[in-house]
Amino acid sequence: MRQFNHAADIMRLDKGIRKILASTNSEISVHFPVKMDDGRIEVFNGYRVQHNNSLGPYKGGLRFHPTVDINAARALAIWMTWKSSLVGLPYGGGKGGVSIDPKLYSIGELERITRRFTYSLGENIGPDVDIPAPDVNTNPQIMAWIADTFASTKSPSTRMLNLHVVTGKPVGSGGLNGRDRATGYGVVASIKSWAKLKGIELAGKKYIVQGFGNVGFWASHFMEELGAKLVAVQDASGTIFNEEGIDTEKLHNHVGNNSGLISGYDDADKMDNDKFFSLDCDIIIPAALGNQITEANAHLIKAKLIAEGANGPTDVDGEKILLSRGIDVIPDILCNAGGVTGSYYEWLQNKRSENYHIDTVLKMISEKLNEAFERTVNTAKKYDTDWRTGAYIAALERIQQTYMERGVFP
Ligand code: GLU
Repeated sequence: MRQFNHAADIMRLDKGIRKILASTNSEISVHFPVKMDDGRIEVFNGYRVQHNNSLGPYKGGLRFHPTVDINAARALAIWMTWKSSLVGLPYGGGKGGVSIDPKLYSIGELERITRRFTYSLGENIGPDVDIPAPDVNTNPQIMAWIADTFASTKSPSTRMLNLHVVTGKPVGSGGLNGRDRATGYGVVASIKSWAKLKGIELAGKKYIVQGFGNVGFWASHFMEELGAKLVAVQDASGTIFNEEGIDTEKLHNHVGNNSGLISGYDDADKMDNDKFFSLDCDIIIPAALGNQITEANAHLIKAKLIAEGANGPTDVDGEKILLSRGIDVIPDILCNAGGVTGSYYEWLQNKRSENYHIDTVLKMISEKLNEAFERTVNTAKKYDTDWRTGAYIAALERIQQTYMERGVFP
């Protein structure tokens, strides 16, 4: 809300529209029972917050994480509204999830949790209502269960018309070629736009990544393709460092056999978690959870660029310090928008019963993100402000316009 208010002040957002956007349209909390493998019943808490749908159906991920609650879902849903608007997608913002640590459950339990959560959300989700997607700790398999549960609870004659209730599905179930890498690819597309703007050569540059899930891995993969060097990675299990460079594919294979964690990787040294952000490097890609770069560590950062793969990794006070020290920040709603952009093409291909080739997908994503990067930088310049505020203003202008044209019912 501090980020929103700041942008709204600078652009002099219409007072009424400001009031509308300062609250969410609806907030759904569900409590649902699931039978565990040993016969016990457990009750889970799930959420879906729908912020605003002036530009189209609500869109945004579902995360399975102990930090998920109504407040987290609310902040994340609001970010989705700005993100979709900035990129020019026909979506509003939504977000949700279940408050669990998925590592504590068997695959069968996770399937029942997912299916019962989907059932509990009922008609609050739908292909033209609210379209979930993967986020922290959720994946194509979970999306397939959501699609199947949603479709199976509809009339058999409309079953196949409901596949696009969710995006990020496996390719065999209507998923998009390249959706897996879409967010990481977009992060690197944004970094390339930054390098071009600044006249910087990315080959040989050192970067570090926080989080080696879907976003962190794919961003590293595409950075490596450009000849940049991954020197450190941090996740919930610790921090690893190798001045000579960490092989992204090798680490990815290790993580795949190690419950998703980097711990125990043998081709790098272990390092103190606290020293991670102050490492000597050119680019930092936070690709894990929110509020990681704060007042406590922003003054220690040596990198020239923070490319926000995660949602909300830099807090307002941390960002102030970064900007005062001349460190660039590509804001989350731009930097990680490749994911929802990929989702848009998945939704379109399902609606049209088509299948896009991966090359087409990646080309469409980079075009959208390059335009959004330019829009962000130009808006920031026009209002003499930072990139995050520029991105917010560009997003808010589009929403403001639709309200101005259509008015408020009745
Ligand atoms: N969870 C991703 C995000 O935060 C993707 C959302 C989507 O594809 O709808 O942007």
